[in-house]
Amino acid sequence: MTIQAEIKPLSQWEEYHNRPLVIAGPCSAETEEQVIETAIGLKETGKVDIYRAGIWKPRTRPNSFEGVGSKGLGWLKKVKQEIGLPITVEVANTKHVYEALKFGVDILWIGARTTANPFAMQEIANAMKGADIGVLIKNPVNPDLELWIGAIERISNAGISKIGLVHRGFSTYEKTLYRNLPQWQIPIEMKSRLPEIPMINDPSHIGGDSALLLDISQKAMDLNYDGLMIESHCNPKEAWSDAKQQITPKELGQLLDSLVLRDPLPHDENQLNVLDELRQKINWLDDQFLDLIESRMQIVQSIGEYKKRNNISVLQSSRWEEIIYKSIEKGAKKGLSREFINKAFKAIHQESINHQMEILNGKKD
Ligand code: PEP
Ligand code: MN
Repeated sequence: MTIQAEIKPLSQWEEYHNRPLVIAGPCSAETEEQVIETAIGLKETGKVDIYRAGIWKPRTRPNSFEGVGSKGLGWLKKVKQEIGLPITVEVANTKHVYEALKFGVDILWIGARTTANPFAMQEIANAMKGADIGVLIKNPVNPDLELWIGAIERISNAGISKIGLVHRGFSTYEKTLYRNLPQWQIPIEMKSRLPEIPMINDPSHIGGDSALLLDISQKAMDLNYDGLMIESHCNPKEAWSDAKQQITPKELGQLLDSLVLRDPLPHDENQLNVLDELRQKINWLDDQFLDLIESRMQIVQSIGEYKKRNNISVLQSSRWEEIIYKSIEKGAKKGLSREFINKAFKAIHQESINHQMEILNGKKD
């Protein structure tokens, strides 16, 4: 991929050095009193770095509360000047960017529905050209890593170097425990592609429920995320949007206090050696594992040849069901989840079928 401008790690974003970096505030700015009261509460926790509030709200259906619009920027400016918290708002078009910059917003964030739309992304990127501003890009609503990367490229090509990402989960048709499925593998893959880029977790939109916030936030800390964006409202029950997932500033303070923070790397040499030794063992086991799969595939090969000679079909469902059933039962006794064994064995089985198909079709012998 071609990211032309350099991306600054969070540690180089002026004042934003805390780990985890905490961005908090209401889903939506509703009234001046609500904005200020929430900001005072958050400031009092001593743990919030940046104040967030949506003033233009992208709603799934019309006739929901669509935000107070530009007048909310005046309220946020007060939060910045009188309470001393840097501010961030969501922008979804050129007008939003210009208005936000005019009011001294410190960081602009791009919502999940906007990241999914390349036209909107390009328009926003053009409007940001030349601005010295931080930009946070939420993951697109659909689990598409390339689309997320495309959004980073557009912003980066506009000359912005303070770019961070917000992992807020992915839409699903089925109702699940989560409002948006976390699909942790996607941000993990993103981090391996762009190791320097700051990654912030948004447990509010992943969970959709205040009861899930702690678990999701802890998982993000365990995965070494740089920060958290959590919705907080002075009176969550009465919130005009996303009431179920918001918590009071006091509750947010307690949540942050109870997080277990881990170091990305061991401190001293001794710890490093222990970790190194354990990793060596893992490498050795992984090699063994690959050797075993190789041996298994050699037998699959012989079976394939036998089937070819005797003109027998590749797939025999009853045999397969027997294997998977036995393996799931054995795995459960070893403390391995049924879901994992099911997925792992299905992948191995698929690979075996592919090998045998190649033999039957004469590509392999
Ligand atoms: C929000 O942060 O309030 C919001 C609208 O989020 P998302 O774009 O993740 O849906
Ligand atoms: Mn919200």
